[in-house]
Amino acid sequence: MAAEEQDRRIELRTDVPHPARIYDYLLGGKDNFPADREASAGIAAVWPNLPRSMRANRSFMQRVTHRLAAEHGIRQFLDIGTGLPTSPNLHEVAQSVHPDARIVYVDNDPMVLVHARALLTSTPEGRTTYLDADLRDPQQILSSPELHRTLDLSRPVALSLIAVLQFVTDEDLAYSIIDGLMDALPSGSFLALSTVTADSNREEVEAGIAAYAARGIPERIRNRKDVELLFRGMEILDPGVVLVHRWHPDDKARSYPDEHVHMYGGLARKN
Ligand code: SAH
Repeated sequence: MAAEEQDRRIELRTDVPHPARIYDYLLGGKDNFPADREASAGIAAVWPNLPRSMRANRSFMQRVTHRLAAEHGIRQFLDIGTGLPTSPNLHEVAQSVHPDARIVYVDNDPMVLVHARALLTSTPEGRTTYLDADLRDPQQILSSPELHRTLDLSRPVALSLIAVLQFVTDEDLAYSIIDGLMDALPSGSFLALSTVTADSNREEVEAGIAAYAARGIPERIRNRKDVELLFRGMEILDPGVVLVHRWHPDDKARSYPDEHVHMYGGLARKN
């Protein structure tokens, strides 16, 4: 990589709050800067259950990944909007079931790129790759040689879009992204996603989203029907689109009250 290109790619813009670093900070991580912490404090002041909702989301990611591997035999994952490494990461969950599982991680945040090494701790039998790319350009992701070195797109793949689609505020764009990605995957593939809703706590989430927007980060709030439509053409599996803590809950997830969880999640199969 040319030095110039590398400089561009590691431009962190520490003066501007970034969603990946806000998420990291609110989950108790260390990969964030004063601007992110200041923004997080302002957002959490009006959205006090956001950290809890994020933890519920992180736990959904782990349960859905485990289920994809254990119940559906999935060994290939394409995870877009990966976020900063937070253990257990998706590959650790998938490879705990199938040590030969292969994972492609994608994010467009330079800070995630800097820490990507922590995502690349694959088992020897499996493989993990990191792509610095944008969800809004699925063809760039799909044409990447690294992706094809890691995943065999003639066999089923689970696409995971966990807590990222709220940043795609144009619904037609969201549909075309999902179509573009799912069209490239064979039948028997899956889509797992979660995204922000205000259905369980309108006042808090709307205030929180306004606080994100005021810091230059626009997000879209979706209701259940909107989220179901993101899966259109696919078979949504039991229990449907539900608040993430209600999706095949473990004991911890069962303990969350609905009003503390502001994400819908679901899993669908491409038949
Ligand atoms: N999936 C993880 C992290 C969610 S935070 C989890 O659920 O725990 C959202 C992530 O999406 C951030 O890391 C952010 O950088 C990334 N993101 C936002 N918009 C993106 C885009 N257009 N392309 C790729 N990644 C994006």
